[in-house]
Amino acid sequence: MALVSCKECGTLNSSEAENCLSCEYPIKGRSKTNLVKWFALLLALMLVIPLAFYTIQTLSTQTNVQPSVPPAK
Ligand SMILES: [Zn+2]
Repeated sequence: MALVSCKECGTLNSSEAENCLSCEYPIKGRSKTNLVKWFALLLALMLVIPLAFYTIQTLSTQTNVQPSVPPAK
C-alpha cells in the first residue's frame, strides 16, 4: 500500500482510494492503472490468438496425418 498526494489539494491518500478524501478529486493513478490494464489485455490477446491458431492448426494437421482409426470389428 502506498500513499499518493492529491493532484488538486495535495492531501495524502491511499493508492487504493478512488477519490481524494479531502476534495473528492479522482486519484491520478487510476486512469494510468486502467491504461496498463488495457495494455496487458491487448498484449495477452496478441499472445493468445496466435497460440490458439497454432494449437488449432497443429491439432488439425495431426488428425489429417494420422489415418482414421480402423473399426475394431
Ligand atoms: Zn484532494
